[in-house]
Amino acid sequence: MAVKLEFLGTGNAFLPQGRYHSLLLVDESILIDCPPTALASLRRRELSPKHIKSILFTHWHGDHYFGIPFLILERKWISDRSGESDLSIHGPKGCRKRVSQLCETAYPGSMTDRLDSLEWNEEEKGVVGNSPKWQFERFKVEHDEEVDPHGYLLIHESGLQIMHTGDSGPCEAISSRVPQCDVVVIEMGVPDEVDVSMHFKPSTLDELARANPNTKFLVTHTWLDDPRSSKTPILSAELPSLSDNVIQVGDGDGFILDSDGLNPI
Ligand SMILES: [Zn+2]
Repeated sequence: MAVKLEFLGTGNAFLPQGRYHSLLLVDESILIDCPPTALASLRRRELSPKHIKSILFTHWHGDHYFGIPFLILERKWISDRSGESDLSIHGPKGCRKRVSQLCETAYPGSMTDRLDSLEWNEEEKGVVGNSPKWQFERFKVEHDEEVDPHGYLLIHESGLQIMHTGDSGPCEAISSRVPQCDVVVIEMGVPDEVDVSMHFKPSTLDELARANPNTKFLVTHTWLDDPRSSKTPILSAELPSLSDNVIQVGDGDGFILDSDGLNPI
């Protein structure tokens, strides 16, 4: 039993060269967050929005959820006009209100029917909606309190476990769960010289990875320009040297995780 992980976007809020906003696609049907570039990412991947069955929100910064009005509007008028494709939305308490207000601001009155037909789930753990092979646990992380920051533990029916840190600096909630995970999808939002506790940086990420050599770390939400981009870097396209169990991914990178481990597609 295999799990498919695809990075549709890997950049932080500032869109480094060659990267859309951070967006993970699991098993071709589950999205972690829905950034402003989500629809662009799905178009580039040639995956219709109607095939998305579940969206799991980590927190309420714009680069993590401002894409949801476009996704819902696209389903309504383009890919799912009959409204036959179920969509489940998971997020911290107040999720339905937050998302509905954003959609109403973007396109007043246009999505009321669709918002009512979605499956809303603000529970902290349970089965991922429309994706019964997956259980989830959502937990608080270290980020701006104003935006109710969380990470997710995703548990596949095969027993494989994946963590998505959301946006967070180092914290007990993450470090205590890493040892049980096969893969950790982790943010690296800022370089070492930026003095903030709300993001991982190369030094803190490397420390966590070295302490957990049996877990693979996939680095996303990075400030670094993609070295594969031919454009002039905005900040830097030189990836830092990190522990052997760390992969710094780029847009379009995909992996299969099964009992043999993690392998690129
Ligand atoms: Zn954030």
